[in-house]
Amino acid sequence: MLLRSATLDDGRVVDVRLRGDVIESVEPALSAQDGETVLDLDGQLLLTAMAEPHAHLDKAFLSERIANPTGDLMGAIIAMAGHRHLITYADTVERAERAVRLMVANGATLIRSHADTTIENGLMSVQALAEVRSRVADICDLQIVSLVSWPVTGAAGADNRALLRDALDAGADIVGGCPHLDDDPHEANEVLLGIAGDAGRDVDLHTDETLDSNKLSLEDLANRIIATGFPHRVTASHCVSLGMQPEIRQRHVAELVAEAGISVVALPHTNLFLQGREHQHAMPRALTAVKALTSAGVNLCAGADNLQDPFNPMGRADPLETAALMVMAAHLLPQAAFDTVSGCARGALVGSGRRIAPGQPGELVAIPAATVREAIAFAPGGRTVIHQGRVVSGSSPQDEINC
Ligand SMILES: [Zn+2]
Repeated sequence: MLLRSATLDDGRVVDVRLRGDVIESVEPALSAQDGETVLDLDGQLLLTAMAEPHAHLDKAFLSERIANPTGDLMGAIIAMAGHRHLITYADTVERAERAVRLMVANGATLIRSHADTTIENGLMSVQALAEVRSRVADICDLQIVSLVSWPVTGAAGADNRALLRDALDAGADIVGGCPHLDDDPHEANEVLLGIAGDAGRDVDLHTDETLDSNKLSLEDLANRIIATGFPHRVTASHCVSLGMQPEIRQRHVAELVAEAGISVVALPHTNLFLQGREHQHAMPRALTAVKALTSAGVNLCAGADNLQDPFNPMGRADPLETAALMVMAAHLLPQAAFDTVSGCARGALVGSGRRIAPGQPGELVAIPAATVREAIAFAPGGRTVIHQGRVVSGSSPQDEINC
């Protein structure tokens, strides 16, 4: 397929040829080949397709059904637990698939979702998301993280550890969990890394989702990975308490995180909503230490976390909304903010797809905007989304006749 007249983020107007699911060439002008499918982008902005590195598809669109009266994290967790009986397998599949199709229409072709893995919920969320993964396989890649409940340590954690192993057998790709909610967060890191190592899986942990500066399991996670040479990808999501440390400590931990090769996912929607309610004076933003992490060279990504559920009643399933929050709440420049929901997120999830160049994956989004900043500001509709070298949402390409 030939994409004509695409404006890149550096302002160049180019033609882009896709061969199969890979970008073959990017040139000022390319001639259409006999029988080639051509899509004229008419100067639209062409960017690396976005990714959603941290969703909770099993909870999407529950806001009307389950309220969070206190508006904070524990309020959301308690509300979910108290209304678990209202949630069925079939409606989890329906809500999750609806969320995925919205994300794809907005330009995300790679999505990572956590799936509640608790004694009460069993494997229902994992199995429902595995069904969704097969339903949407032609339009995006969906990764499933088993978000195992706590504790995972000691005798009390035996059932959760067994359930996590079952979840990996039942369709979950990645080991998740919440070490900071365990009685022993450091031991929880070791347990979860051990299970992932045994199964040969990547890890994505809800890490330090608290403003309590005394809780900082991220440093221990980085030290363990450096010491053991853990061979799989590791992502730490939230890392809110890192943002509450003195700058010298932020820099020290950020350097360890960079050395360990851990990607960090900031989640501005949900943490701006959930955290800080007890501070009516000088309310903290509850974001991670963005400046220290990026200065140290850490791969910083951003996600939306929850979508219209007890953890976050807002959200449009649009990574450009997340990018806008990374500009306003995290003080990134627009291009860097876009990278957190595109190339950096792809790097964290699959290790490739950071730019538009020959040999890169054919994962692209065309947006009717002149610049990245304008795309984030207006978040216009009418996007054309390309996954594995094929248009999966938006404009239909025309087959070139007699080129
Ligand atoms: Zn989350």
